[in-house]
Amino acid sequence: MAKRVFNFNPGPAALPLEVLKQVQEELLDFKGTGMSILEISHRAKEFEEVNNQAMALIRELAGVGNNYKVLFLGGGASTQFSMVPMNFLAAGKTACYVDTGEWASKAAKEAKRVGNVNVLYSSKEAKYDHVPKPGQVKVPADAAYLHVTSNNTIFGTEYTDFPDAGSVPLFCDMSSDMFGRTRAFDKFSLIYAGAQKNLGPAGVTIVMLKDELLAKCPDNIPTMLNYKTHAEKDSLYNTPPVFGIYVVKLVMEWVKKQGGLKQIEAVNRKKKDAIYKLVDEHPNYFKGTVQKDSRSWMNLTLRLPSEDLEKKLTDEAKKAGFVGLKGHRSVGGVRVSLYNAVPLEGAEKLAEFMLGFMKANPK
Ligand SMILES: *Cc1c(COP(=O)(O)O)cnc(C)c1O
Repeated sequence: MAKRVFNFNPGPAALPLEVLKQVQEELLDFKGTGMSILEISHRAKEFEEVNNQAMALIRELAGVGNNYKVLFLGGGASTQFSMVPMNFLAAGKTACYVDTGEWASKAAKEAKRVGNVNVLYSSKEAKYDHVPKPGQVKVPADAAYLHVTSNNTIFGTEYTDFPDAGSVPLFCDMSSDMFGRTRAFDKFSLIYAGAQKNLGPAGVTIVMLKDELLAKCPDNIPTMLNYKTHAEKDSLYNTPPVFGIYVVKLVMEWVKKQGGLKQIEAVNRKKKDAIYKLVDEHPNYFKGTVQKDSRSWMNLTLRLPSEDLEKKLTDEAKKAGFVGLKGHRSVGGVRVSLYNAVPLEGAEKLAEFMLGFMKANPK
């Protein structure tokens, strides 16, 4: 048995061990083809089945109907920053954005290259230490759409309640928390997520959108950047990221086997509580960097009394088998990423380790 660590990487990130084992088992001979999934046509019936199952599982877990299309695209979530406005920000209209962190701000920046953008709310002045409360974002009724970022991977904030967009279509970048907790997914007209945080490997981006939106996609944009192209062909217009789609399918099956999002949420709640409890009990040593009611369940950000102690903690943690704890290079500190594939035991053992570290290294 290979030696595995507790993996707190922010992305690409931990995948369920069961999934990795299944990939390994099926790699040389996928379903009796005598080939790996990497070596067969994306038009082969074996792959088509994988593709169809992956789409169906995502709709099932999200609890949405067949009026939603699920797409598997390349280019990362960052390409969605451009595709969204190219498809849905028509000339003369204004798209609304909420700026809650680096990715949210990049999304708005790309939209500005396409058309009119109104940033309705920004927490930048507060060093992105919170997301707005629902009433704080007032969406003009004639907006093209409202774009929000559900979880701010770098700063460690996450919405519990989203702004009310009224009749305006609500779009969301869910790259770092999709399926990490239950959500009213049908409140969103479009959701996108790079798979490499909470859903699968790097290389595939999941888009789930209401099919009524597709009528709005303009014909004069590049074919590959038009959602309609991919929706009409179930992501098989060109060669899709086949391996990524396959692993996403396995991860979705794993989520279902855990008991679905309700059970995933219950475990994720315990995981984040284990770490935040430590922070709350020792606020002079472990300083949470965000407001309590905006705390992320997925990326927990904190500071220690000094940068030296932060470095010592991440170094010693690594030696003890807890990897990936260094904060993002733009903000420093410590970041504990607790995506779905990180077991409860990992969060509990890490909390224990951190408490021991505090005692051994007083400030
Ligand atoms: C990581 C991340 C992105 C960027 O994803 P890529 O797939 O690398 O383009 C965008 N948004 C959020 C919220 C992220 O966490």
